[in-house]
Amino acid sequence: MSYDPNNIFARILRGEIPCNKVYEDEYALAFHDIAPQAPVHVLVIPKGEYISFDDFSRDATAEFMAGFYRAAQQVTEILGLQAGGYRILANTGADAHQEVAHFHLHIFAGCDLGRMIKSGLV
Ligand code: 5GP
Repeated sequence: MSYDPNNIFARILRGEIPCNKVYEDEYALAFHDIAPQAPVHVLVIPKGEYISFDDFSRDATAEFMAGFYRAAQQVTEILGLQAGGYRILANTGADAHQEVAHFHLHIFAGCDLGRMIKSGLV
């Protein structure tokens, strides 16, 4: 599967579609999810053509990966999430229901997020 430059997050990165921005630097853009699943639900996306955690972690440079993950940490500081805690999630592929084929982290916070994953899957 090759990267589709017209995916929705690529269009947000190009400024073709607006977003409610939380943070931006040379490595990443972070913005509120359009359909939040928690009181705080932010997406962090890299400024590069990566489909998922898989190819990002394999192909991005160490500097770029560090910059990206530091940007995600910056988001948690900006939003003051340390005190209550938060969850970071990266859906990857079909079983995980990844909808947008541009690597992204979800950051959830603002309430008791419950157990790690829905029970009853095994
Ligand atoms: P995935 O299932 O790929 O891990 O998550 C994709 C996320 O992107 C979903 O939570 C969805 O609500 C969000 N999303 C899809 N389109 C848009 C959009 O145009 N703007 C924003 N801010 N979020 C979007």
